[in-house]
Amino acid sequence: MRTVFFDIDTQIDFLFPAGALYVPGAETLMPALSRLNHYAAAHGIPLISTTCAHAEDDPEFRQWPAHCVLGTVGQQKPSDLLLGKRIVIPAAPGSFPVEGAGQIILQKNQLDLTTNPHFSRLLEHLKADAYFVYGVVTEYCVRLAALALLKTGKPVNLITDAIQTLRAADSGQTITECTGAGARLTTAAEVCAQ
Ligand SMILES: [Zn+2]
Repeated sequence: MRTVFFDIDTQIDFLFPAGALYVPGAETLMPALSRLNHYAAAHGIPLISTTCAHAEDDPEFRQWPAHCVLGTVGQQKPSDLLLGKRIVIPAAPGSFPVEGAGQIILQKNQLDLTTNPHFSRLLEHLKADAYFVYGVVTEYCVRLAALALLKTGKPVNLITDAIQTLRAADSGQTITECTGAGARLTTAAEVCAQ
C-alpha cells in the first residue's frame, strides 16, 4: 500500500512560544512530529510538508496576526523536521518537478492547501492508497487538509497525538467532523510501529 504523509504547517511561528502565532502546547508535539517525518524518510514514504508562506502585507493578516512571512526565521520549519532532497512548490504558476524529492514543501498563502495551484496535480502524481495527516492547527489547516484528502475517496488517518488546537474547545468538534466525513484516528506510535 502506498501511503503519503501530510505534515501541516509545522513552522517555527506556530510551534514555539516565541513564534508570531504560537499554538499553545504545540512545542510538545516535536518528538512525535520528528518521529513521523523521519519514519517517512526511512521508509520511502512521500512526505508533503505544507507551509504558510505569506507576503508582508498578506490579506490573511486582516484576520490573523502577521506570521510565516517569507524570508523570516518564523516561516521556516525546525531543522529537525526537514529531510534531505527537499523541493519547494510555491503557490504560483510554473513547473516544479518533484521526482526524487524526499520532502515536498507545498507553500500556501491561505488556510486551505488546495489553494496551491499544483495541489491536484501533486495528488495525481503521488497515487496514494492512504493518507496520514498531522501538524497544526487542528481546527483550521489540519481540518481543511483532512477534508480535502477525504474527497479523493482514499482512507485518511488523523494522527491525534501529533496535532494541536488553538482553542481546546474546538478540538472535539473538529475531530467529530473529520471522523463523520470518514477519517480514521491513530497515533504516532501506532503509525511508526508498522
Ligand atoms: Zn497563514
